[in-house]
Amino acid sequence: MVSNNLIPPALVRPNVNGLQVLWLQESGIDCLWGKPLLPLVPNNQAGALEKPENTVPTSGKLTANAPGRQAQAHKQAIQGSGGLQRLEREQQASASHQPAVYQRPARHFTRQQGQAEPLQKTPPVVVLRPDVGNLDWADLRESVVACTGCGLAAHRGQAVFGEGAQPSDWMFVEESPGQQDDWHGQPFMGKAGALFDNMLKALGLQREMVFTTPLVKCRPVANIVPSKEEVASCQVFLQAQIEWVQPKCIVVFGRAANTLLLTNETIEALRGRDCFMTAKNGMQIPVVVTYHPNHLMVMQADKAKVWQDLQRARQIVHSA
Ligand code: SF4
Repeated sequence: MVSNNLIPPALVRPNVNGLQVLWLQESGIDCLWGKPLLPLVPNNQAGALEKPENTVPTSGKLTANAPGRQAQAHKQAIQGSGGLQRLEREQQASASHQPAVYQRPARHFTRQQGQAEPLQKTPPVVVLRPDVGNLDWADLRESVVACTGCGLAAHRGQAVFGEGAQPSDWMFVEESPGQQDDWHGQPFMGKAGALFDNMLKALGLQREMVFTTPLVKCRPVANIVPSKEEVASCQVFLQAQIEWVQPKCIVVFGRAANTLLLTNETIEALRGRDCFMTAKNGMQIPVVVTYHPNHLMVMQADKAKVWQDLQRARQIVHSA
C-alpha cells in the first residue's frame, strides 16, 4: 500500500566537518545541493534543534537574524553536550586530509564602471575655478596639499602634487597615487617608480627634466577607480599644471587614459592613436597612451609595446 504521508527530505552531511556546518549555517546556508544539512549534535539533542527558535532568547537584536538564531541554537546544543571538543577534534582530524577551503573576502570598495562612452576627438575644456586658475605654482601646490575638495581627502596619507620641471616638454600622468606615493607624497615611488626611471633613462631623460603627476592627487582606498565626481573635483589642478608645464606631449599611463580621454576603450585600443587634450587657450596637446609600469611588472612582454609608445612620444616632442 502506498502511504500518503510526505516523505521528509533526507538529511545529509556532505563532505564537511561540524565546524564547517556551523559556519554554513551562520552564513544562512541550511542546505547543500538541495538537501538540508545534518546538524552535528548527539542523537539525544536532535529534537532540540528541530525547533531552534525555542532554544534561544527571542528578545534583542539577534531576533532579526533567523540563520544566526539557528546557528546559535546549534552552538548551544553542542556546548551542552561537550560537542565543542568533538568539533575541535573533528576539525583537527579533517585538516589532515581535507583541503583548506579559502573563501575570498567580499570587496567593499568596488565601484560600478560607467557605460562605455565614445572617444571624443576634442575633449571638453575644463574651465578652471578662479581660485585655482589665478594661483602661482607654489600656491597651486599648497592648494593641492590642503585640498578637501572630495571624499578622497578623508583617507589619504598626503596629497601627491607631482614633481619635476616646469615648464617641460614632457608630462607623464598616471591615474592616482599608489600606496608608496601616498607615504612619500611623490608620484611613481617603489618598484614601479624604479621601472619608470629606467624608461626615462632609455629616452635620455631624468625625473628632473620632466613633470610627473597623478590625475587624481589623493590615493583612493584600496586603489579603486576614482569616481567621476572625484575626477571632476581634481581635474582643475591637472589643467592648471598643464598650463604651467606647457608640455609638447603628455604620456598617459593605464586607466588615466580612460578618464582624460573620456572613453572606456582598452589601453590596447588607444595605443598608437592620435589623441589630444585641449588646453584652456584652445591648444591641442598630443596624448600618447601606454601601459602603466605596474602593468609591466606583471606583463613583461608588453615592455616592447611601451618602448614603441615612448619612441612615438619622443618623435612628437622633437617634431613640435
Ligand atoms: Fe582635493 Fe583632488 Fe585630493 Fe579630491 S583628490 S581632495 S579634489 S586634491
